[in-house]
Amino acid sequence: MTSRFPEPLIIAIDQGTTSTRCVITDGAGAVVSSAQYEHQQILPRQGWVEHDAREIWANVRRTVTVAMVEQDITVEDVGALGLTNQRETAVVWDRATGEPIHNAIVWQDTRTADDGDARRWLARTGLMANSYPAGPKIAWILDHVDGARERAADGELLCGTMDTWLLWNLTGGARGNPVYATDVTNASRTLLMDLRTQTWDPELCEAVGVPISMLPEIRASIGEFGSVRHRGLLAGVPITGVLGDQQAALFGQACFAVGDAKNTYGTGLFLLLNTGETPHLSESGLLTTVAWQVAGQAPVYALEGSVAVGGSLIQWLRDQLGVLRTAADSETLAGQVEDSGGVYIVPAFSGLFAPRWRPDARGTITGLTRFADRRHLARAALEATALQTREVVRAMEEDSGVALERLRVDGGMVANELLMQIQADVLGTPVERPANVETTVLGAGYAAAVGAGWATLDDIAARVTVDRTWESAMGEERRRALIDGWNIAVAASFGQA
Ligand code: ADP
Repeated sequence: MTSRFPEPLIIAIDQGTTSTRCVITDGAGAVVSSAQYEHQQILPRQGWVEHDAREIWANVRRTVTVAMVEQDITVEDVGALGLTNQRETAVVWDRATGEPIHNAIVWQDTRTADDGDARRWLARTGLMANSYPAGPKIAWILDHVDGARERAADGELLCGTMDTWLLWNLTGGARGNPVYATDVTNASRTLLMDLRTQTWDPELCEAVGVPISMLPEIRASIGEFGSVRHRGLLAGVPITGVLGDQQAALFGQACFAVGDAKNTYGTGLFLLLNTGETPHLSESGLLTTVAWQVAGQAPVYALEGSVAVGGSLIQWLRDQLGVLRTAADSETLAGQVEDSGGVYIVPAFSGLFAPRWRPDARGTITGLTRFADRRHLARAALEATALQTREVVRAMEEDSGVALERLRVDGGMVANELLMQIQADVLGTPVERPANVETTVLGAGYAAAVGAGWATLDDIAARVTVDRTWESAMGEERRRALIDGWNIAVAASFGQA
């Protein structure tokens, strides 16, 4: 049977924190079909977040099936599969049965937080030893499931991040001869990998408590990961791209050159800056991570910084204060005033992270006068988002010595065009929004296309078209005044916890 599509389709799967998406694109990168399923958030106690890895694997099969069936797509139409996933979420399962021995421990889960120096492995791993990395989560499961350590030592258990679990199942699982591997971007989030050699580090594995013998093989993100098992809808389709979600977004934004950066404006903000083939360690608490690696080439590194409160400040104004009716109201209201009237909101709800690192900070509103109303609060919230982004960007520039030429943006908040203008004003750098802001799942598809040899990075860059660019329209004096005022407000947020 021949395909009705002129070029092979690519199936991209985005296995995210709350849902799993499948997007099928054609040879030109246009979306042909998509489907999405949510999965259960299991919250056994304060600070713990778990997922049922079996439910997630079932949702991967369901989204793929529905996306294919909806548009009458058959396996003959499909040329490759790309996968991106929630990072740092850890699974341990039985090699013989394919059954997880415990729920997956999700990246947000704080049970592995410890009091040790968070920077103790920064130079080797690029990561802070806080509650996020996957390695200590694997160790926790081995320590808390009866007999798990012995079974791991006997080679009965397998472990990994969500990519490894899905790859193993996609390529055959307990019934086949599955591929047991992870990609280098996911491996770089475990606290077990040496960032410079991209190999599991025996000392780190020993210190974290994960037997090096049970870990999957680390592979380049863009290249061969085997084929989907011989039975089922996607039988024989090669898997040629695997990336962690933020790295996939960076790739999906075609941030291929040193100095290219993206910011994802969701509940929180996630910034990544391409620093090329050199891993730059941060002086200001940013992370160093592998951005991607094409098989046979050197890995590309990125600096990563996140802001805890992004879109959630808008949600807070809407749900807790009732100042906004909808998130989009923030734009309408803020657009009715010239400036925030001297009002600043520092959304340090649980302290301030990079680059301030002030756990003692708490949420603060400053500059209130009798004249201030909800329009000023809405504007101050957008400014806070832009000003926090600016701080991370400046820290990245200092750490890397690379100057940002423009910021590419995606995520739910980029619908807010006033925020985009304020961002360009505050940075003094253009802000670019792509035509398709589904950069994470597109990035996984692009990686698969490159991995399969059908596209080069130049081809991908040509596919990523800009919908709109915002140039700075703010004079230097006004920008300075805004930043000075922000710094005073931030200082006022300190010492409250
Ligand atoms: P996540 O992936 O973290 O769930 P999304 O990328 O879907 O987040 O973005 C949702 C966030 O964006 C919410 O916090 C919401 O308040 C915010 N948001 C959505 N639309 C707007 C808007 N027009 N203006 C400002 N914020 C918005």
